[in-house]
Amino acid sequence: LLRASASSSSTETVTAVSEIPAKMKAWVYDDYGAADLLRLDEGVSVPEVKEDQVLIKVVAAALNPVDYKRRQGKFKATDSPLPTVPGYDVAGVVVKVGSQVKKLKAAGLPLAIETANEGLERSGFSAGKSILILGGAGGVGSLVIQLAKHVFGASRVAATASTGKLDLLKSLGADLAIDYTKENFEELAEKFDVVYDAVGQCEKAVKAVKEAGSVVALTGAVTPPGFRFVVTSDGAVLTKLNTFIEDGKIKPVVDPKGPFPFSKLVEAFTYLESGRATGKVIVDGF
Ligand code: NDP
Repeated sequence: LLRASASSSSTETVTAVSEIPAKMKAWVYDDYGAADLLRLDEGVSVPEVKEDQVLIKVVAAALNPVDYKRRQGKFKATDSPLPTVPGYDVAGVVVKVGSQVKKLKAAGLPLAIETANEGLERSGFSAGKSILILGGAGGVGSLVIQLAKHVFGASRVAATASTGKLDLLKSLGADLAIDYTKENFEELAEKFDVVYDAVGQCEKAVKAVKEAGSVVALTGAVTPPGFRFVVTSDGAVLTKLNTFIEDGKIKPVVDPKGPFPFSKLVEAFTYLESGRATGKVIVDGF
């Protein structure tokens, strides 16, 4: 999570801004472990932009579970070397573009909506099909509900959450909101064309799918016929998904405990890691 230490006046799309500082503030970790390993470094070098990259002055960021899983060392084998500045999703202003970057508007890079969409596409989800979403109130699940119902044309959407979040599931487009503290979804008579598991319950998820249906398993152990994928980021897909947000078909769900100020990043991560976040946990005040 980066914060440029000097401001620059720029419009939405810019090729270069003269006053890009050499140093910026960033939250950094030097070793794998808990959130308290994060330290605020005032003197991190602003990265050089390669020909196919852009430099973004960050205004706000959303946290994703992958950010803390990386910090915990779960991707150690393939991760970039330490020290690490965490973060994927940012909103901000493009202040510099590489020579090969041809088109770009303001920068919002939402990992959760790309994951939601890619999982639906890979499962073969289409109009008229039914879906059960496990973890419907989280960052990814809240978007799967909306995409399935308002974009893909689902015939029926069911989703799980704890008692206090059932109204939210309905407001997002769920026809059936299942309270996992009171009911076992895998024991319902109703079965679904697709089960989208954003919790890590694949073993139970496969019991709720119709024969020849698909089970998307974002995390945890995978039980056949469930499948896992790792989200791919793609500018063209983001542009398409952005139209659904502009049309009002998809509404970002922002956790009411946020936005957390930049200085409270450790608190923001600790909250996300509790596994109780509603929609996206946002950090601002960069
Ligand atoms: P969040 O932290 O936003 O999920 C939090 C939500 O999970 C809360 O609203 C909580 O609701 C809900 N939840 C927790 N336990 C249960 C349960 N037993 N049943 C139903 N809901 C539950 O996570 P994300 O949505 O951002 O991500 C979900 C998972 O997917 C993470 O493990 C993440 O790492 C992974 N992921 C994988 C990707 C990939 O490419 N493979 C890409 C993106 C994410 P409540 O408080 O009601 O329990």
